[in-house]
Amino acid sequence: MKNLLKEKTNPWEKINIDEKQKIYDFSQGFIDFINNNKTERECVKTIEKILKKNNFKNIETIAKLKPNDKVYYINRRKNIYAAIIGKKINFNMITSHLDSPRIDLKPNPIYESEELAFFKTHYYGGIKKYQWVNIPLSMHGIIITKDKKIEINIGEKETDPVFTIPDLLPHLSKNQENKTLKDAIEGENLNILIGSIPINEEVDTKTKLNILNILNEKYNIKEEDFESAEIEFTPNFKAKDLGFDRSLIAGYGQDDKVCAYTSLKALLEIENPEKTVICTLTDKEEIGSMGNTGMSSNTFDYFIDLLLEKANIDNKEKNKIYNTSKALSADVTGAYNPNYPDIYEKNNESFLNKGVSIMKYTGTASKGGASDANAEYLAYIKNLFISNNITYQVSEMGKIGIGGGGTISYILANKGMDVLDCGIPILSMHSPYEISSKFDIYTSYKAYKVFYKN
Ligand code: MN
Ligand code: MN
Repeated sequence: MKNLLKEKTNPWEKINIDEKQKIYDFSQGFIDFINNNKTERECVKTIEKILKKNNFKNIETIAKLKPNDKVYYINRRKNIYAAIIGKKINFNMITSHLDSPRIDLKPNPIYESEELAFFKTHYYGGIKKYQWVNIPLSMHGIIITKDKKIEINIGEKETDPVFTIPDLLPHLSKNQENKTLKDAIEGENLNILIGSIPINEEVDTKTKLNILNILNEKYNIKEEDFESAEIEFTPNFKAKDLGFDRSLIAGYGQDDKVCAYTSLKALLEIENPEKTVICTLTDKEEIGSMGNTGMSSNTFDYFIDLLLEKANIDNKEKNKIYNTSKALSADVTGAYNPNYPDIYEKNNESFLNKGVSIMKYTGTASKGGASDANAEYLAYIKNLFISNNITYQVSEMGKIGIGGGGTISYILANKGMDVLDCGIPILSMHSPYEISSKFDIYTSYKAYKVFYKN
């Protein structure tokens, strides 16, 4: 009988000890990366250091570009484009995002209630609010005053204090538990507890004033300085190996730092590419890719303008270059969760440990909002993976009409590039503690390298 059916063996069964060690070592690098870089600003700072160490130069400091020159451009400290100039200028690009769902502060955040001090928050991205209460949170971000910029990172060091959003005790939750999951925790109740000692002064809000006094001593700031701040509260959990076999990784912010990390690591190993290679690490994906650091921003085009100008290529060629360039939108997708079989159509889902996940479209039931890549391009990517021994799966996400989500692939498709969603399946996606497979992470890194090079 001819072998007509798809192969269904688990990739782990075929992996030898050496290969397994490589996978685990690579994964440890990723664990360290997400433990030390929880926000887009922190990522950009670290990635700039990594790029510099690997001979990438700020494109604005370079007059002329020639093949194998390595350059980067940083957009407002929150997103970064890195490129290696090829013998040809049309490019292979991988785009991922550095922002992750989190709890931001409102511009007037500090208040006091019954002598306890709190921060008012406004969450960022699609979260299930009940998951974000009663967990340790750390504070990250910047405050800009009249004459300085203060960088804040509290909670990550072992000796640091942490913060949390206190939920109701079960004993008094009869009303809350009768509500739907969506409404049981309201957005306006995601208030972060930040202190409890009153100051010894004749004011109405002594605890609030005491907190402001502590902040003033530490950072020399006043209450109104929070108006010009970007403060993000992230889960404080450390990313760790998950399972007796240590085959999985649990950690915050894997959407989409796992694709950012793997596509960056792949980029660093490219030398003398035929086509120009671009690694785009963008921001604001979780709120629709708007804003001047999101993928919709013309700042990306500005970076391409710089590339063309410095490579001495007429800017009139730009649309032609887009139309002959290839892209992967490297973003995570939801992995099949065996606890909830009813929401899936099993033949068309992504599974942990089945390799990098290719998606022709993401979006809604009608395929609205999707770039819906053509079969020719899907075949190109698929054959590339097959010929390079890259384990891949082709999937959608969930049964039709059960929900859906978008990626940035349509934005690249709008420019004229061929683009496909190609990322890593994540269990408990968008939760404070997401789960990925070490095999999938390592496979994506290999897949991205092969894509850049061809
Ligand atoms: Mn994502
Ligand atoms: Mn997401």
